[in-house]
Amino acid sequence: MEESNKKQIDNKVEVLPGVGPKRLEALHSLGIFTIYDLLTHFPFRYEDIQVKSLDEIEDQEKVTLKGKVVTQAVVNYYGNRKSRLSFKLAMEDAVVSVSFFNQPYLKSRIHLEEDIAVFGKWDSLRQNLAGFKILGSDPSSDEQKDFESVYHVNKSIKQQTIINLLKAALESYYDLIPEVIPEEFNQHYKLMLHKDAIRAIHFPQNEEEFQQAGRQITYQEFFLYQMKLQLLRYKRKKGSKGTAVLYDVSKLKEFIQTLPFELTEGQKQVVNEICRDLREPFEMNRLLQGDVGSGKTIVAVISLVAAALEGYQGALMAPTEILAEQHYQTISQLFEDTNFSVALLTGSTKVKERKQILEDLSLGNLDLLIGTHALIQDDVIFNNLGLVVTDEQHRFGVNQRQKLNEKGQNPNVLYMTATPIPRTLAITLMGEMDVSTLKQLPAGRIPIRTIWSKSEQMESSLEFIEKQLLQKRQAYIITPLIEESELMDLKNAKEVHERVSSYYQGRWKVGLLHGRQKADEKEQIMQAFKNNEYQVLVSTTVIEVGLNVPNATVMVIQDAERFGLSQLHQLRGRVGRGSVESFCILLANPKTENGKERMKIMTSSTDGFYLSQKDLELRGSGDLFGVKQSGMPDFKYGDIVKNANVLDAAHSDTIYLLSKEDFFDSAEYMPLREYILNGQTHTKKLQ
Ligand code: ADP
Ligand code: MG
Repeated sequence: MEESNKKQIDNKVEVLPGVGPKRLEALHSLGIFTIYDLLTHFPFRYEDIQVKSLDEIEDQEKVTLKGKVVTQAVVNYYGNRKSRLSFKLAMEDAVVSVSFFNQPYLKSRIHLEEDIAVFGKWDSLRQNLAGFKILGSDPSSDEQKDFESVYHVNKSIKQQTIINLLKAALESYYDLIPEVIPEEFNQHYKLMLHKDAIRAIHFPQNEEEFQQAGRQITYQEFFLYQMKLQLLRYKRKKGSKGTAVLYDVSKLKEFIQTLPFELTEGQKQVVNEICRDLREPFEMNRLLQGDVGSGKTIVAVISLVAAALEGYQGALMAPTEILAEQHYQTISQLFEDTNFSVALLTGSTKVKERKQILEDLSLGNLDLLIGTHALIQDDVIFNNLGLVVTDEQHRFGVNQRQKLNEKGQNPNVLYMTATPIPRTLAITLMGEMDVSTLKQLPAGRIPIRTIWSKSEQMESSLEFIEKQLLQKRQAYIITPLIEESELMDLKNAKEVHERVSSYYQGRWKVGLLHGRQKADEKEQIMQAFKNNEYQVLVSTTVIEVGLNVPNATVMVIQDAERFGLSQLHQLRGRVGRGSVESFCILLANPKTENGKERMKIMTSSTDGFYLSQKDLELRGSGDLFGVKQSGMPDFKYGDIVKNANVLDAAHSDTIYLLSKEDFFDSAEYMPLREYILNGQTHTKKLQ
């Protein structure tokens, strides 16, 4: 039959009986378009169905009752096609009635004198169980446990409809569910077939089967996602469209000699990783993650110099003017006794100067252009762009980063981030990149001392700050993020500013920074703080992550329990940048155990990687600072925190597969190749 020839797992879901236009619309709104979408619309929870006795259950509770059928089942019809099936069930200590509505066909499954288990809702007044379903083939077993899947639904579609559709889909499409995981991994991890996992995840026979199904689905989901990322990485490295920057190594070493400090071991290693990539014909696509203050800037500068030594131009983009300017000042100094030229381009660059810069840039008279988003404007044309560096990369959208990269012909790309992220997140979000990590801080840094005090201790915090101010230091006071309303933030920040200003009146100047100010106003205030025109800066969380004011030695964070660990760490990183001891005071009265735990962790660790891992564990991936914007895939089943080990395994398995010489030829891998090249993974969003 022609029709059956076309039966495929990605057939439209409306081929199933009973899916009319209205239902179809409801399914679409749940993201279900194909049969496979439906089959991978996983239950979001299961009701654990346990057999209980009557004295254990409450009115209206959903339970399973077990007993002997002691009356013949009778069906009464009433109204328009409505019916009620009822019978009596003898349990150990009582006889109860059971009724099923509008399922007259169940009558054939209920036999006098037989043991039976029924799942339903208990009505204690009527001593009646409104049955939902008849359970299990062997109700005599005491071990019996059953699950009822619960699905995400919406107003126009019911649980039972989803369940019925799933049953119909499994009936006709079970054999068509593709098996793409290579046999070697199935065996190694003892995975069940995907088709069986799909069936069992919806209709598990027992707990063990349900667990095994979850294992297969999680692994497959992560595996296919990693396969996509690793394929991108593989193709980039195999291709030779990039720029091989064969700079003179001894000249680069000479430049490194001129730096005011010795590189840390970590910096040396990372510089090596980057420079090795630069010399290869593929385009580098590398993430440099390092804790706040770990010295990423200098690594970027050395890489840019390597490119410049071979006559390639470089671009360094930062998210705000103040950061771009900071970089410009640092780098101009480092370039002072060299032949390298550098310019700064931002929104406030004067027209005439801008014109000159753009001309130099297009003629190739400029080695390095530093700037903000201004770098991605259309009329910014490089002569020979070889290396693009994006600082605080998570602050830019994918498109903005891409636009800068397109200003050269497959230039080498280095992304930098001061938001260390746990490995599991890194391989999910950035698995297609190579990652360099700076763990160590430059020697001689004195760790920030962090103290947790009660919120009422504001006054003594101000006294503490004053002692530092008297030693010519500066201080930050951070006011909390109030999720519900930016206006509340502002009100609160203003109040704190007033209070602090009047406390220090006539002695110290206090600045205020908040989200409602215009960009240039913010920049002005930060600049003024840098210049020590303000000794104290009251700020909401808009305070710039890369802001470098080494003279600031105290930070007080109000209502610190409202922040996540990573964010507290980022904020705290504004101090501890100079050569004297710095302090961070967390004012917090956390009400939850989780909140107390976070405060304790903050006082005991300054390791950004450790903190981000803890953050992930305590708050889940969705809340992790800086991750929301970065295009987190929404896995349908796997949880990258709970199933981190599966993710890790899937990651290395895909790398191993692609390193096999026969991956692209062997018949063994054909289903997988077809699936990843033509099909889609469970995961909708691939950034
Ligand atoms: P981040 O990684 O947060 O961007 P920066 O690059 O701004 O950190 O560096 C922080 C500070 O550490 C800067 O003042 C920089 O000059 C200094 N620094 C960087 N590397 C070293 C080093 N190897 N030894 C001493 N100081 C260093
Ligand atoms: Mg930085």
